Amino acid sequence: MERKNSNVMKEIVSALNGADTVRIITHASMDGDAFGSSAALCHILRGLGKRAEILLEDEIPGNLRFLDRNYCVRESGLPEEPDLCVALDCGALYRFEKRVESYQKGRNTINIDHHEGNPCFGALNWVEPDAPATGLLVFLLIRAAGWEIDAECGEALYAALATDTGNFQYESTNKECLLAAAELCDSGMDRVKVATEIYQNCRPEQIAIEAIAVERMEYLCGGWASLSCVTQEMLRETGALMSETERIVERLRGVRGVELAVLIKEEPDRVKCSLRSKHYVDVAAIAASLGGGGHKRAAGCTMRCGLEEAAARVRAAIEKEFADEGRDR
Ligand code: 5GP
Ligand code: MN
Repeated sequence: MERKNSNVMKEIVSALNGADTVRIITHASMDGDAFGSSAALCHILRGLGKRAEILLEDEIPGNLRFLDRNYCVRESGLPEEPDLCVALDCGALYRFEKRVESYQKGRNTINIDHHEGNPCFGALNWVEPDAPATGLLVFLLIRAAGWEIDAECGEALYAALATDTGNFQYESTNKECLLAAAELCDSGMDRVKVATEIYQNCRPEQIAIEAIAVERMEYLCGGWASLSCVTQEMLRETGALMSETERIVERLRGVRGVELAVLIKEEPDRVKCSLRSKHYVDVAAIAASLGGGGHKRAAGCTMRCGLEEAAARVRAAIEKEFADEGRDR
């Protein structure tokens, strides 16, 4: 398929080909798409004989560590001004707050992403809000360049596609994405291993915190919305990590009749919210009204206030959305 962005894709391929040192950056609190697309690109670049690294500012979630083959550093091992810095899956600079300076040190900067409203902060920007995952863009890039997708690259890209599409459930899962996933099966990667590592390998602490969050779930708007929270106290009580609370919001949305689900997470210095919708609510718009952003069916925001105040603001936003939807119907 001819893409509207095929020119920028070619420019990116040529920038990558011409670089010897490449720093890859993805957003903090990495998910499967963020880390999978980064691991895939790093692997490819190293295979081409380049010095490439993924610069991190926080931990790799436990269920994604199998994708790391020594790609990651906390202190850059590259020259201070590498030839190229590539941001993957970052909708805005503040999603990699502590590494913005390191990113901007690149002699050239690339931004590959699929978030609506990405302000195109790189020198070269390839932003496709309709793409189901950044991993799909990296796949298309690699294919366009004619680089070989081996098993390591294949499993990283497959992990990216699978996680950002809710295992190929969400409506963003288009034919191109399914064909890409099918093609990745030819790379020699082990799809069952990827699924087991990501989804069937959690620590008991994770199940324990999921149980408490589900127990505390409340329904709003007569069962149209569901809401729960994760507090620091719950983390202490269960021994779970915040990165192990990822699946909870999917459980909240999974209830019959629920269109909108919100999980409010209390962090030491701020509150983060995860919003999900099932069929029609634009959660990116709700998140934007709370200072965040994201995709139509999966979005988030960060609030600098206490849990109670954050919860009150979120409840008000949900109720407003319900009232507005009611007027439309
Ligand atoms: P999650 O709920 O999994 O943390 O995030 C879902 C999506 O919401 C992410 O892919 C990202 O697009 C968006 N998102 C999450 N947190 C924030 C945030 O603090 N600010 C903005 N602008 N988007 C966010
Ligand atoms: Mn993504």
